[in-house]
Amino acid sequence: MTKGADHIRLSLEQVRHLAEQPLLRCGISRDHADAMAEVVTLAEADEARSHGLYRILGCVAAVRSGKVDPVAVPEVTSTAGAVVRIDAKGGFALHPLRIGRPLLAERARQFGIAALALNHCYHFSALWGDVEPVAEDGLVALACTIGAHSVALAGGSAPAFGTNPLAFAYPRGEGRKPFVFDLSASTVAKGEIELRRRSGASLPPGWAVDEHGAPTTSPDAALRGAILPFGGHKGAALGLMVELLAGPLLGDLRSAEALAVDTRDGGPLRGGYLMLAIDPARFGGAGRLNEADAWLTALAEQHRPARLPGTRRHAARARAREEGVLVSRSLHEQLMELC
Ligand code: NDP
Repeated sequence: MTKGADHIRLSLEQVRHLAEQPLLRCGISRDHADAMAEVVTLAEADEARSHGLYRILGCVAAVRSGKVDPVAVPEVTSTAGAVVRIDAKGGFALHPLRIGRPLLAERARQFGIAALALNHCYHFSALWGDVEPVAEDGLVALACTIGAHSVALAGGSAPAFGTNPLAFAYPRGEGRKPFVFDLSASTVAKGEIELRRRSGASLPPGWAVDEHGAPTTSPDAALRGAILPFGGHKGAALGLMVELLAGPLLGDLRSAEALAVDTRDGGPLRGGYLMLAIDPARFGGAGRLNEADAWLTALAEQHRPARLPGTRRHAARARAREEGVLVSRSLHEQLMELC
């Protein structure tokens, strides 16, 4: 452990331990804690800190408030045809996702395309970690869930839908890292605004409006008002699509309904989650994975300094394995108090 002024450098093993111990101490079962610590460590390694260690604080608060069942045992309620349904029983989402992913892959290989629907879960992490393993297994993956009810329609001034992340992963052939993007429907994830509020930083213009609909750079005013959708009406349309796919389609909550039943403990919201998997072998594309990989590689080389989504993360991850990651001292102290 190396200490600097405001940050502490930790190895990834130390990050994982720091993530897992508070979860176990507050009564979260080993299955859930292990899945959660793995994904939080990946987020720190990828320098996706808005979904890293600081999320542990919200997860512990959500257990302490009685909102999330820390020992929920997920139930696979249906594997009929190409649809795998899992009831998370009011627990965190990552352990049921670990259970569901092999079933999803099996069904996708059998039918060409399959879906994993998760109900009554609390999803707090980046979707990147959910889809990448599916593409590493040779399948195309698309995942979405309901996020915090805080995004306005283009031109609007009040939250209309959630931050509603959407992630996509495409395999690039044996031994190659998949092409992945993972984005919220908002200009920025709500966690990023909360991190800036905690550090006293202001927001770049164009991220949010206050409760009167006026543009703001204040994190507090943004949290009272609304975050703007990315890309204006186009991002809003995608956000609405995710709201429908992960909410009503699954018989689960819309983001406003999730907010209405929330205990406001700072932890994740209850809701549904959908992941689709497609087998390129069943669509005639298995023989073209290397070609797609060559196309993406050429794009990245020919269009510098532009980059493909995912390259920042993969570079950060490789660095983190060698050098560890920087964790803010105040967050480290808060987590140590929970250990
Ligand atoms: P970003 O805007 O930071 O990034 C979105 C995507 O664009 C990433 O795949 C990123 O790749 C890529 N990208 C960013 N900059 C560039 C660039 N200059 N050129 C090419 N590609 C680029 O993410 P968001 O703020 O929208 O979302 C952050 C996270 O929040 C997501 O992981 C999402 O899953 C999570 N989230 C989770 C919620 C939940 O309830 N579980 C709710 C809302 C959000 P790269 O990673 O390589 O930078």
